[in-house]
Amino acid sequence: MPGKYYLSVDCEGVACAVGTPGVGLGDGDGYRFAAREASLEAAAAVSALFDAGAERVIVWDSHGSGVNLDYELLDPRCEILLGAGHRGRFVGLEADFAAVLFIGYHAMAGSPGGTLSHTYSSRAFQSYRLNGRAVGELAIDAAYAGEKGVPVLFCAGDDFCVREARAFFGNIAAVETKKSLSWSSALCRHPQAVRREIYDTVLAAAKAGPRVPPFIIPGPVEAEIRYQRSDAAASAQLYDMHGRPFARPDPYTRSGVLRSVTDLF
Ligand SMILES: [Zn+2]
Repeated sequence: MPGKYYLSVDCEGVACAVGTPGVGLGDGDGYRFAAREASLEAAAAVSALFDAGAERVIVWDSHGSGVNLDYELLDPRCEILLGAGHRGRFVGLEADFAAVLFIGYHAMAGSPGGTLSHTYSSRAFQSYRLNGRAVGELAIDAAYAGEKGVPVLFCAGDDFCVREARAFFGNIAAVETKKSLSWSSALCRHPQAVRREIYDTVLAAAKAGPRVPPFIIPGPVEAEIRYQRSDAAASAQLYDMHGRPFARPDPYTRSGVLRSVTDLF
């Protein structure tokens, strides 16, 4: 379908990325492989979108400090959001975008499995709950797009990630990059096979159009953030919709009511 698309590209969920036990993706050889594979998986999705008639595609380099991908591997017609320090998620996303896509995503912190599962930082956070439901990056990012009226078209990640995406959003198009065996191991498909399936699946999905409505977490949103460290919980600068500091119901937890999910950032 013609239209505008926005891809968020994380690195943990790509084919053959498992990180280091107790650390995560880190910044060594495993990270460098994952960043290159994320670039290639994003490139496959971007090519499919343009081949399906997309007019504009923005690729958001969203892992860590936002400078991971090899941009030379992407179709030169795309635009790239990168770096850190800007406010919010999906900068520039507006209601006239056709859909968002997730590449290299992973299951939430507290998932029953899921290679490299975490929410934003496995060192910082035990869990995020919004309106009483445990959520991770998938649901939060999709809700951010949903608030603009933009649905999810596609997700690529490990089996737990794909299951989580479908539990939240419904029967979206998806590609399973690997079967999680533990936090730092997986039975992976070959990266080339994964990239081919991403191209084919995104092409078909973009031609058919989104299968699900925008994902909404209705406001006001009751937010509960559980930290790994009590001192981090104590010092977190979090304010509710009335400008009051979040409550601290126990040493590790901060909670408060926000106007909408976009106020999390
Ligand atoms: Zn990441």
